[in-house]
Amino acid sequence: MNLILLGPPGAGKGTQAKRLEEKYGIAQISTGDMLRAEVKSGSQIGREAKAIMESGGLVPDAIITAMLALRVAKPDAARGFILDGFPRTVPQAEALDVMLRDKGLALDHVVELKVDSAALVERIAGRFTCASCGTGYHDRFKPTAVPGVCDVCGSTEFIRRADDKAETVAARLDAYRAQTEPLLPYYQAQGKLRAVDGMAAMDEVSRQLEAVLDKA
Ligand code: ADP
Ligand code: ADP
Ligand code: ZN
Repeated sequence: MNLILLGPPGAGKGTQAKRLEEKYGIAQISTGDMLRAEVKSGSQIGREAKAIMESGGLVPDAIITAMLALRVAKPDAARGFILDGFPRTVPQAEALDVMLRDKGLALDHVVELKVDSAALVERIAGRFTCASCGTGYHDRFKPTAVPGVCDVCGSTEFIRRADDKAETVAARLDAYRAQTEPLLPYYQAQGKLRAVDGMAAMDEVSRQLEAVLDKA
């Protein structure tokens, strides 16, 4: 199964993609996570992407599509993948269509997580992850069971993303509206677009998503 999770920053794509990865045994491919790894390693891509990411803009399509093509070719993606944060522009979606056609693959579903703007700001402001195992948390909606200790690995170090601060979030939401929202009619026209109520609690969103995916 090959699918895309579409939705604005903070909609819950990463949270749900991780759950789908476990449930269906397919690979979560997050271009945001990949770019953050490039920035951390100080690679050529990372050096080009860093300032753009910090300003809340989008990294150029050519860099992203080249990076994605390499990732999709890795063995763990052979059983299927969940694209989280890609495509984000119509040219990226067109490049993906070509890439999949060349490999004899197709998209099974494109699911939009619908969330109100006001809720997005609160979700992003409260987001943090374990520095050691990467588990995602939220100050209010998914706190650690023991304050300051990761539920999964026991680490006491956590990370907040530099671009999750209020000034940058506005730019990211603008980029979503201007450049990513046009993907909704793009996939609607292909008959692939489905929507899920991303305002619901995490478990309910998962239930709705699975209902969409299991329908085939
Ligand atoms: P995205 O990958 O779309 O940017 P995340 O999955 O990182 O979004 O979610 C953003 C924040 O909101 C995280 O802190 C996450 O724990 C929290 N979150 C995710 N889904 C929900 C939900 N359905 N209700 C409340 N909070 C959520
Ligand atoms: P979120 O879903 O919370 O907005 P991501 O982790 O998906 O965040 O992306 C973080 C940043 O990385 C984006 O603001 C953008 O600068 C860059 N980025 C990630 N994916 C793409 C993409 N497909 N095209 C262009 N830029 C991207
Ligand atoms: Zn951890």
